[in-house]
Amino acid sequence: MSVLEKAVTSWLEKRPYLEEVAAFALSCEHVLDGGRVLNELPANLDNVKEELGQGIPLLLTKADFKIEDAACENLLMFEALKDEVSLPENTRNQAAKLKDISSDDAKILVKSIISGEEEKISQIAEKSGIKIDMLKYFVWVSIKKAVGGIKEQLEKWLHDNNYNAGNCPVCGNNASTAFFKHTKRGRQRFLHCDHCGTEWAFKRIGCPYCDNIDQKKMSIKDSQDETDMRLDLCHKCMSYIKTYIGENDNSVGKEGWASIHLDILMEETGFSPKGSLIKPE
Ligand SMILES: [Zn+2]
Ligand SMILES: [Zn+2]
Repeated sequence: MSVLEKAVTSWLEKRPYLEEVAAFALSCEHVLDGGRVLNELPANLDNVKEELGQGIPLLLTKADFKIEDAACENLLMFEALKDEVSLPENTRNQAAKLKDISSDDAKILVKSIISGEEEKISQIAEKSGIKIDMLKYFVWVSIKKAVGGIKEQLEKWLHDNNYNAGNCPVCGNNASTAFFKHTKRGRQRFLHCDHCGTEWAFKRIGCPYCDNIDQKKMSIKDSQDETDMRLDLCHKCMSYIKTYIGENDNSVGKEGWASIHLDILMEETGFSPKGSLIKPE
C-alpha cells in the first residue's frame, strides 16, 4: 500500500461516507502513476520575482516551466479510467471520451485552464462531450502531477523569497485548505492549493481570500464530529477555509475532497468555500 493509500484508508475509517469521492480522487492519482513530471525549475525563475510580486502566478510569468507538454501527456492518460470498475459508470464513460481529444487540443486545454480562458475550455468540452467540470478536474490533476516533480524545489524557492500572499503562487487559484506544520519558527500555518498541490507558509491570523486581519470579523467553528478539522470563517468576505488541525504530515486532511462533508454542513449558512477542486454535487 502506498503512503497515499494508507492515508486515505485511515481517513475513511472515521468517515466511511467519503468512500465514493475518495475512490475517485485515488483512481485519478493512480492512473497517472507513470505520468510525466517536471524535473527542474526554469533557469530564469529569479527573473520573474517582480511579476510574482505583482500577483502574477508563476505558471503565467515569462518563466517557462514547459508545463503544457507534460500536463497534456498526463491528461490523455485519464482515458484508462474507463476500465476502472470501482468508479461509477458515468465517470468511466466520461473518461472514455478523452480518446477523441487530440494532443493539440489537450495542449490548448492546459494553457487555457492555467490562463482562465473559459471560452476555449467550453468549446473543447462541447466537442468531446465531456462535462466541463470533469474536464477541468482531469486537467488540474494532470498539472498537479507535473508540478509534483518540482514541488519541493518550488516550495523552497517560495520560502526563500518570502512568498506570503493568500492565493497560490504557482497557479493563482485560491487556497483550498490550511494546515499547521512544525518549522524552525514554531507551529506555522500553511496553505494548500488543491489545483496544483503547492503549499506555502501564511500568516497565523488573517483571511487568505480578502486579507482581512480584523479578529472581530473572524471566527472559528469546531465540530465534535470532526475533530481533525476546523473552519476559519471570515465575516468580511463571507468565506471559510477548512483547516486540518491534526499532526500527521501525510494526512489527506489537507485535500479539499477529504472534508467535503463540512462544505455540505456549511451550505445555506451564507459562508462559501473557495479553492476546492471537488465540490459537493
Ligand atoms: Zn496552485
Ligand atoms: Zn475574507
